[in-house]
Amino acid sequence: MYRILIFLFAFSFGFSDNTEVIAKNFDNDISSCNRFQIIRVLQDTTINYSLGDDVVWIKIFEGTPQSFIIINLHENEATSILAAKDIVNRFGGKFIFLSQKGERNISFKLGGNEYSFDPNRIFTREGIRKSLSNLGNYSFEAEEEVNKFAEFLLSELTKDSLFIIAVHNNTNGSYSINSFFNQYKQDVSNVYRNKSEDPDDFFFVVREEDFEYLKSKGFNVVLQDNQNVRDDGSLSVFCGRNNIPYINVETQVGKYQKQIQMLEEIKEYLSKPKEN
Ligand SMILES: [Zn+2]
Repeated sequence: MYRILIFLFAFSFGFSDNTEVIAKNFDNDISSCNRFQIIRVLQDTTINYSLGDDVVWIKIFEGTPQSFIIINLHENEATSILAAKDIVNRFGGKFIFLSQKGERNISFKLGGNEYSFDPNRIFTREGIRKSLSNLGNYSFEAEEEVNKFAEFLLSELTKDSLFIIAVHNNTNGSYSINSFFNQYKQDVSNVYRNKSEDPDDFFFVVREEDFEYLKSKGFNVVLQDNQNVRDDGSLSVFCGRNNIPYINVETQVGKYQKQIQMLEEIKEYLSKPKEN
């Protein structure tokens, strides 16, 4: 197997007021046993997104075929970024992740003030307002700026109508499947806990059929109550309200093999023919 690498740097190649594509890298793998058949194309794109006076890099790593889209919103959850890249490398699909300062939250300056928000709390207006206020300053102008960013991300996430897979990592013994028996009980309509699994490793889904499938496979799984879930502006709330297929693959940080195994399970599930 050999590789042809084509680097293309396109400066000021903007497709909205806030963006420019700063780098594209195509990597075609060609099978040596069938020299002229391209078996997959990997493409790496970085979008330079202007947020107030600062920048967020939206990185898109994609391969063929494109049957699902993976999103990482928390840059400090590094295990999930590595696992998602490995999946796209081997099976295709598209992976979008955000990059700024290596932290969970994103910050920016606007009109001389500093603002911060959690990028998984921006997919409703209510969520944006709460996140800005909880993390420091709030202004309507900042809310608008974050809302534009959320709309841009959502357009990237939904434009090909692909199944959305979010990847997250938690720390041992904090947020886990057990949280849905107490703290987050009112947000979910069903929980399946397999006592032989680590409670930190679980799926969070918005559709009953996905819940039943993953339960049948013996994984910890939580089903969001799309009608009654509290509006925290997270992507699961947005997808649940808008009937968008969504699964969050959550593991303890550092559990790379477990996250790979869970992502492979989803990939397998999505490639099964649908029964009518
Ligand atoms: Zn996260």
